[in-house]
Amino acid sequence: MDFRFTPEEEAFRQEVRDYITNVLPPDWPALDPIDISPEINDFVRQQMKVVGAKGWLSLSWPKEHGGREDPMLDTILQDELAYYRLPVRDVQGVGNVAPTLIHFGNDEQRKHHLPTIAKGEILWCQGYSEPGAGSDLAGLSLRAVPEDDHFTVNGQKTWTSFAHQADWVYFLARSNPDAPRHQGITFLLADMRTPGISVNPIIDITGNHTLNETFYDNVKVPRENMVGELNRGWYVAVGLLEFERSGASYLGASRRLLEDLVGYAADVGLRHPLLRKRLADAAVELEVARWLSYRTAWMHQHQMGYSLEPPMAKVFMTQRAGHLGMEVLGLHGQLERGSPCVPLQGSVAFLTQLALRETILAGTSEIQRMLIATRGLGLPR
Ligand SMILES: Cc1cc2nc3c(=O)[nH]c(=O)nc-3n(C[C@H](O)[C@H](O)[C@H](O)COP(=O)(O)OP(=O)(O)OC[C@H]3O[C@@H](n4cnc5c(N)ncnc54)[C@H](O)[C@@H]3O)c2cc1C
Repeated sequence: MDFRFTPEEEAFRQEVRDYITNVLPPDWPALDPIDISPEINDFVRQQMKVVGAKGWLSLSWPKEHGGREDPMLDTILQDELAYYRLPVRDVQGVGNVAPTLIHFGNDEQRKHHLPTIAKGEILWCQGYSEPGAGSDLAGLSLRAVPEDDHFTVNGQKTWTSFAHQADWVYFLARSNPDAPRHQGITFLLADMRTPGISVNPIIDITGNHTLNETFYDNVKVPRENMVGELNRGWYVAVGLLEFERSGASYLGASRRLLEDLVGYAADVGLRHPLLRKRLADAAVELEVARWLSYRTAWMHQHQMGYSLEPPMAKVFMTQRAGHLGMEVLGLHGQLERGSPCVPLQGSVAFLTQLALRETILAGTSEIQRMLIATRGLGLPR
């Protein structure tokens, strides 16, 4: 067992850091590691292409599809990008759509979509959740009626992150309402400019616009946009959820928060013993998070099956980041950007709210614990 990064991995981390610190403006305003807000949109979209040209958006893909088969490097990239809050790796396209097409798609779909994802040219969004289907995703009711060369789609999705900015959506639709729930679902792709798709903003707890409702009104989706087989989309969807790997973006964000808080405590001379204890605890937690995250990447790299590690990493990281800043800064932690006395650009108030969202998205903490208990510990459902 070797707990060190290889010299190549260390060199790659340094290369990523050098790139980011060279391009990032000194007054970079982003606090969220994944949100491409309007004020940073142009810069991020331009840098996505730069990063794509370096081959960094396909690091974990198989070599035959232009990748480097190196999930460890991909995890290092995610960790560093999140630390600097530079959202140039499209979570949905790079992390979910590409591996799904590689495993379940056909040659035409791979030829069409993989190059645009690898080059950082387009953004994807995910249309899974509906007003009546979240944790119980198989209860979805958005309807896709198969016709000659297309599906006619009607219904609603909700909580669709970045639908207002995305170029393409992947989504699940009920294609056979008479079949048992899991067997009547089809996995489809659609260009967001297809007539009949409309998007309504939802403003979240942080006051930002990342979430949306999306409506499908007689949308014609070509047959060639079906991934996998008709009515067997559930198995594609479950496969896709497995691709949500290591939680490295939570790690980078937590690492940054801890460093900022330690720096702040030193700057203003905070010496309370309870504060020292809390920061020391946070350092221990961060180290556990680091091992969970990189171990998952290492297992992926060595093609070892895992099911327990990703939910563990998510539960561990999202539960802890939330309150740390508030505990350290006390009442000052509540101040938001723009207040004259606000510490750390208002990141603590913002990240505390953000952490609440993160305990829900991509499977709530309760669902992750259920997976750990049933799959990992073998407890009955
Ligand atoms: C910031 C954010 C971004 C998101 N982005 C997207 C996106 O891009 N695309 C998309 O499709 N969806 C997205 N979602 C939706 C997300 O996947 C759902 O919110 C999540 O799956 C929970 O579903 P729900 O909101 O319907 O809650 P419910 O499933 O109704 O859950 C309500 C509560 O009940 C608990 N619960 C439910 N079932 C069980 C159970 N069996 N055992 C124990 N407790 C249970 C849950 O943990 C939760 O606390 C996003 C959500 C958030 C917050």
